[in-house]
Amino acid sequence: MRAPREKTVDRLAATLGVDEPVTRVPGVSPARASALGKLGVATVRDLLTHFPRRYIDMSQVATIAGAPVGAMVTVSGAVHEVKLKKPRPRLTLTEVTVIDGTGTLVVTCFRQPWLAERLHAGDRIAVSGKVEFNYGFKRMTNPFLEVLEGGTSCAEGLVVPVHPATEKLSTAWIRRLVGSALDMCAGMLDPLPIELRARYRLPSRQDALRCIHEPHSMDDVRRARRRLVYEELLMLEVHLMERARASSRTQDATAHTVDGRRLARFREALPFELTAEQSQAVGEILGQMALPRPMSHMLLGDVGTGKTVVAAHALCAASDSGTQALMMAPTEVLARQHAASLGPLLDAAGVTWEVLTGSTPAREREAIVERAAAGTVDVLFGTHALLEDDVTVPHCSLVVIDEQQRFGVAQREALARKGPAPDVLSMTATPIPRTLALAVYGSSTLSYITARPKNRAGNTTRVLDRSRQGEAYDATLEALRAGRQAYVVCPLVGQSAQEKDDKGSPRPGAEEDAYEYGGIVIEGDEAPAEDLKAATAQARFLQAKVFPDFTVDLLHGKMSGEEKGEAMRRFREGETRVLVATTVIEVGVDVPNATVMIVEDADRFGLAQLHQLRGRVGRGEHSGQVFLVSGSKAPAALERLAVMERTEDGFAVAEHDLALRREGDILGNRQHGASALKLVNVVRDKAVVEAAHADALALLEEDPQLQMPAHRALAREVRLLFPERDEADEGRGRASKARTRR
Ligand code: ADP
Ligand code: MG
Repeated sequence: MRAPREKTVDRLAATLGVDEPVTRVPGVSPARASALGKLGVATVRDLLTHFPRRYIDMSQVATIAGAPVGAMVTVSGAVHEVKLKKPRPRLTLTEVTVIDGTGTLVVTCFRQPWLAERLHAGDRIAVSGKVEFNYGFKRMTNPFLEVLEGGTSCAEGLVVPVHPATEKLSTAWIRRLVGSALDMCAGMLDPLPIELRARYRLPSRQDALRCIHEPHSMDDVRRARRRLVYEELLMLEVHLMERARASSRTQDATAHTVDGRRLARFREALPFELTAEQSQAVGEILGQMALPRPMSHMLLGDVGTGKTVVAAHALCAASDSGTQALMMAPTEVLARQHAASLGPLLDAAGVTWEVLTGSTPAREREAIVERAAAGTVDVLFGTHALLEDDVTVPHCSLVVIDEQQRFGVAQREALARKGPAPDVLSMTATPIPRTLALAVYGSSTLSYITARPKNRAGNTTRVLDRSRQGEAYDATLEALRAGRQAYVVCPLVGQSAQEKDDKGSPRPGAEEDAYEYGGIVIEGDEAPAEDLKAATAQARFLQAKVFPDFTVDLLHGKMSGEEKGEAMRRFREGETRVLVATTVIEVGVDVPNATVMIVEDADRFGLAQLHQLRGRVGRGEHSGQVFLVSGSKAPAALERLAVMERTEDGFAVAEHDLALRREGDILGNRQHGASALKLVNVVRDKAVVEAAHADALALLEEDPQLQMPAHRALAREVRLLFPERDEADEGRGRASKARTRR
């Protein structure tokens, strides 16, 4: 009688243990707790979900003697000697000699001087890269390098997990602490209903956590991941559905006038006919706006399908209804472009408008804020600047969020709080199939635009090795002489390969979510650094050497809003003919006379990003030419780029795009409840998203309050993962951040 009872108590303790502070884990001293804090780990749960960033599969490791020259392999051995060299004033290289009992391997790492301090003779390391043979030695240049702390004895299995670590807390220590946390929570209850686990043959949570942290094979990792991904998604879906149910009971909204005079005049002023899909989207949006319920509508369409003009109809309907509308864009360039392209049409329709961005001069800003508050301006275009507290729009009945995936949930919600219960129209070029969109934006209505307007000539895309980039320059010169314009896109602004790009996102191009590099299975966003074209230097070079007869200009994220606006204006008006830019031009920029785009170091970009970029050319009557230049010799990188040559379809590109998955453009950290999604990758895990959606629906139908005994653990878990109060806090945090950024 006693034993089972003790067991229940233990299970409860183990389950509750998950949400204890991390200091309860044996081995977590105050110093280690503070180091864990830097990694975002505060609770036992955080530690259990501090997943390895990659794995070293020792079953795939070659000996130095056996490693074929020219092949990509992983070698493990002992450090024999480390030398720091400075062949040129600004160039450092660390030379590491590795021995493994079969031979000697010389590893050269450029621009990583810290390696010389980190590595010591006798350390065991694994390196992954291409084997070369020079001056009598097998060599590797800039390989992946991992210190095998704690050794790789057979006891630990053939797969070495590499957890994200800090200077103060090594991966070996983290491995140990995760192990203690797993022991502490052994016996924890599984929140997944047994029926679902059985249906999909999923291991228990405890087994899955054990296997993802301490796998014996890569198969272990895959099985564990399957289970944990499903769990993350089911929790999210249940949460989203409960939330939607709660908000559907909210207050009344404006029933807009959708057949008013201004909208009619706007239609007359349009210089082109809407495509059938655009008309249908307009109809669907106006239909929603006419209802006295708050609209939540998503307009999905690839770049260049003409979403802006569709949104403009909604803006006019708000004006006809005697209320105000806000249209927010993620960049200043884009906000100004909205105003520039729609402004004249709105003027013709008798709709008043203003633009408010971070760089609007103080006095002008004051006047705009006053007009917005007084209700004397119908439409306010802008950036995050619209979110500031003193921007009040009491008569706001519509907010439009362009490129919605660029904004955080809190920002989108902050915009919607500008009015009493405004209709929300979100637009995105992220290609999400309808079933997936339903799962992700479950409570929204959707419109799709799949075809571009006819007058668009389209693009051809070519991948060029760096040695052949002259061909891209020749084609550009020809286009310039014919009166056209060109973009040259570079991954970085300044010089350093370590620098972040201007979105502040992790280094581009290292986007593979999980790929094999020799025997190292990489889950993180690291790749060997190389020389990258820097926009500033490239602009100078192109002006002097390649296009001396044409004006070359520069646009990058480090310029002020005003400077960016000026550079865009000069290019739009044809004053400058070549625009060298970083990815600031990625989103929505529209200059129909631009017909050529060269992307330098194209392998550094995600495919979805490249697709967005190339949508900038071929927008007018002349067809566009896109050159993706890459110095990469990695077959995988080139194969990935080749997808761009084969298809112009954003959906097809997305299928191949790993960056999209990593950045989580759809559900990543910008989306609702994303902190609970650590492993999910909505493209790769599309089928799981859809299954979890259907399962959550069925669950809530059967048991709306999740009160049945089989569902209680699940209900508890959802509440723990998505505490409602956090969102408001986050909202305040983000808004004030947006404020200081100005
Ligand atoms: P996106 O969907 O990427 O935001 P835009 O709204 O910027 O695309 O539109 C791309 C270009 O297509 C713009 O120059 C716009 O004026 C033009 N355009 C939009 N709809 C039509 C149409 N029906 N016929 C012709 N051109 C159109
Ligand atoms: Mg757009």
